[in-house]
Amino acid sequence: MDERKVRVRFAPSPTGPLHIGGVRTALYNYLFARQHGGELVFRIEDTDSTRFVPGAEEYILESFRWLGIQFDEGVSFGGNHGPYRQSERRDIYKQYVRQLLDEGKAYIAFDTPEELNRKREEIQNFQYDAHTRGTMRNSLTLGEDETRRLIDAGEQYVVRFKIEPGEEVHVDDIIRGDVKVMSDILDDKVLYKSADELPTYHLANIVDDHLMEITHVIRGEEWLPSAPLHVLLYRAFGWADTMPQFAHLPLLLKPDGKGKLSKRDGDRLGFPVFPLEWHGADGTVSSGYRESGYLPEAVINFLALLGWNPGTDQEILSMDELIAQFDLAKCSKSGAKFDYIKGQWFNREYILMTDNKVLAPQFDAILRANGIEAPIERVEAVVGMMKMKKINFIKELWPLCDFFFTAPAEYPLDDKFVRKNWKEGTAAEMKELAALLEGLDDFSVEGQRAAIDQWAETTGRKPWNAWRVCLVGAGKGPDMYELAAFLGKEETLRRMKAAIAALP
Ligand code: GLU
Repeated sequence: MDERKVRVRFAPSPTGPLHIGGVRTALYNYLFARQHGGELVFRIEDTDSTRFVPGAEEYILESFRWLGIQFDEGVSFGGNHGPYRQSERRDIYKQYVRQLLDEGKAYIAFDTPEELNRKREEIQNFQYDAHTRGTMRNSLTLGEDETRRLIDAGEQYVVRFKIEPGEEVHVDDIIRGDVKVMSDILDDKVLYKSADELPTYHLANIVDDHLMEITHVIRGEEWLPSAPLHVLLYRAFGWADTMPQFAHLPLLLKPDGKGKLSKRDGDRLGFPVFPLEWHGADGTVSSGYRESGYLPEAVINFLALLGWNPGTDQEILSMDELIAQFDLAKCSKSGAKFDYIKGQWFNREYILMTDNKVLAPQFDAILRANGIEAPIERVEAVVGMMKMKKINFIKELWPLCDFFFTAPAEYPLDDKFVRKNWKEGTAAEMKELAALLEGLDDFSVEGQRAAIDQWAETTGRKPWNAWRVCLVGAGKGPDMYELAAFLGKEETLRRMKAAIAALP
């Protein structure tokens, strides 16, 4: 059956910032589309106007731009299956609601919220279905003429899907296999509301997946309970032959304890649950992966392995490797623990692999926030010298690297390193070293190494720690020749003189 070109979609509702679980769903869709030479559609499911949040759509698009997840079609991308915003497709849905009504597969119901509540109080576990619909106020009980009269009189109504009991519904799920459900447990779902002339999620979702020629529906586990209803809708429309294959991804779980990952876990343990920082209408700010200093490639790699793995020891996978190796059928059924510490580890690994030119702007921003303006090549050089010092984030470089840009203000003798390495005779030794450096024509790392290693060897001196005290004021930093070469002869000598004058 599936000779069709692979077409998948990511279909968020613009109800706020995109949760990190949604990012993983989009990523899996992207990997699947790419590895099959297929297409990925970006659809906005905004039929619930009460939950619409301004700015959410832009936020979602910006998140994917940052992460490098590209869409082939959809809102803001164009394509032949538009419009891609459901609120712009009202007329299309109306036509399909009409089809179901005409064929007797759906009916009109007038029950008010009050009437429904009364029923719920009356009957325990009330469900609007084959057993109860005969006692309700709908076109099946009222008849055609009365139904027409009520509509003409302006009464609001909904359209409900007529689900026949006693049928075994099968959801063919790539990850979960054959999921069986008896139709009896399903209720006659509302498909359309006259009040806002809009379909509900279920109808719009199925109609769009069909019209947009979607072949695979890859989405979060939270949608699994809706899948049997979706299967029945495809059949009711006569689209069973082109019904997409389903794949319901495992939940993301709390890093500790049981249950679904929530924003509160992020707040409690200090990690973002959104790709980008989000500014809520109430003035609250939620942290994002981008603003927290994560590299997009690290986030992609981390998320890709939450629910799937390549079956080898390989943990670092580029987007191209993920596209080649990803296997939807090998995703796990059970939830994936959101190990945010592992996410930090990925960031460290990606910092080491990333070109210093790409990293420098991040550190430059931190330097500026600390009142330091330096040419970007110098920032880049420092990142290159220091990024292997076990940092998870570029921002951790600042306390490790301040001395590159500012001379030590003091040489604290209560510091173990300073005390240990500044003794009687050290000042004289540093004077000697300074004289030697002053006479050097070649102040490069190699030039210094040649001269000073030789001097140290012939005199039996080990000047490096005291020299570090002079240039850094503490026991941290890179190789001394690298540091001195970076500072240059003038600044190196200036710092040495200052230390000799200040220390006993
Ligand atoms: N609009 C739904 C969401 O916000 C889409 C669910 C689906 O992919 O079918 O996740």
